[in-house]
Amino acid sequence: MADLDSKYGEIEDEKGSFRDSIGTLNEDGDRKWVYPKKPSGWYYNRRTIVSYTLLIVLFAGPFIKIGGEPLLLFNIFERKFVILGQIFWPQDFFLFVIAMLTSIVFIILFTTVFGRIFCGWICPQTIFLEMVFRKVEYWIEGDWRKQKKLDKMPWNAEKIRKKGLKNVIFVLISVIIAHTFLSYIIGVEAVNDLLTSSPTENLTGFVAMLIFTGLFYGVFARFREQACIIVCPYGRLQGALLDNKSIVVAYDFVRGESANGRSKFRKNENREEAGKGDCIDCHACVDVCPTGIDIRNGTQLECVNCTACIDACDHIMGSINLPKGLIRYASIENIEKKEPFKFTPRLVAYSAVLGLLMSAMVVLLALRSPVEATILRSQGTTFMKIEGGKLQNLYTYKIINKTKDEKHIEFEVEGLEGVTINLVGNPPVVPAGGSAEGAMFVVIDEANVTDYKTKLKINLKDDKNTLTTVKTTFLGPIR
Ligand code: SF4
Ligand code: SF4
Repeated sequence: MADLDSKYGEIEDEKGSFRDSIGTLNEDGDRKWVYPKKPSGWYYNRRTIVSYTLLIVLFAGPFIKIGGEPLLLFNIFERKFVILGQIFWPQDFFLFVIAMLTSIVFIILFTTVFGRIFCGWICPQTIFLEMVFRKVEYWIEGDWRKQKKLDKMPWNAEKIRKKGLKNVIFVLISVIIAHTFLSYIIGVEAVNDLLTSSPTENLTGFVAMLIFTGLFYGVFARFREQACIIVCPYGRLQGALLDNKSIVVAYDFVRGESANGRSKFRKNENREEAGKGDCIDCHACVDVCPTGIDIRNGTQLECVNCTACIDACDHIMGSINLPKGLIRYASIENIEKKEPFKFTPRLVAYSAVLGLLMSAMVVLLALRSPVEATILRSQGTTFMKIEGGKLQNLYTYKIINKTKDEKHIEFEVEGLEGVTINLVGNPPVVPAGGSAEGAMFVVIDEANVTDYKTKLKINLKDDKNTLTTVKTTFLGPIR
């Protein structure tokens, strides 16, 4: 890192201070509004395709049903969660915990290897800001210089028209996002009811919609990159997760600075002979940056790996006949030592933990039954002899129904002759996503009880279909 430190040292000397505050603050500590130049290029085109594909999935999601259930639903009010048409209830909390642990390990592993690739390509904040709101802004107000000029203008007819139109569109988009967001929480049908009823009929829903709309408008119209820089916990984790081997959007300072540093482009000059780096200090990479940083200062917490600077620099390199990739996806080690990516022991350990968690997740999902039950012999009880040469044990049961249908449960003992089940009270009816508890006597002909503890298999049936089987024991006299 000695080379890198010395390069940074040069920058510090030139400017008097070096990155001792976030890039969007001016010297007075006020926010510096970022006017990024409209990006274009190979990466931007691919990001556009990925973003629009994800947006289509996001907006279509609430309308897609699998087996009558939505693709995704996170109804925290009814404590009902649907993933790919499968309903999960609070009883599946252990699955949620394992899924969360798996996600955390996955994020750590993925970030250690690939840096903030998620932020640039998949994060909804980046997609909405760069691919929706920013595009509307470019369309109405023009590119960055025109936007700056417009903001400096006094309020005249043009400014009122452009700002007014932009903000009306921003609010409309925020309304659509808020409705979609709510559809993932309360379901598309409930959102439809909200839309077709008057606000006074559903005041809570209406207020929720207003709050979400205001929130999305505030984030995408005003707060913008600040969400990534100062709010997002994932962004804040980068400092702890990244190392010299992580692949990030990086400036090749070895090539860019060479022996005598960067300098402006001069026609017909042999830069190699002059010991000058390939960076011609054109500022194109800084102009396009949506977080207002200079990637040439190294990996910084503000960088969301949006690749805009790669495209900008590749364009410049192409126009002066130098190889592309002065800014590229690379690790610091790759830049300094030209070493390819290596799978380190740390990554092997992360991968092993991730593999274990994912296997556990798959096994638990495969074993997950739609109805779960426990049947336990009542505490402190033993067998009772009753008339007719029979023995009886008292049990308590608890049944959890994870389906969306009510279940009318019948009990049946499997593989034993002369068994009767006498329920205490009515047969259990378990509501969708609910549970039922009760007690029952199992009565068996004494002649069939050959051991102190006889193994019992009790099937729980609904409409003749076995939903689950519970194993327990039946106590009899010691023989
Ligand atoms: S775009 Fe490339 S050449 Fe221009 S300043 Fe940035 S790194 Fe240097
Ligand atoms: S430094 Fe480059 S990759 Fe990082 S946010 Fe700025 S433009 Fe995007």
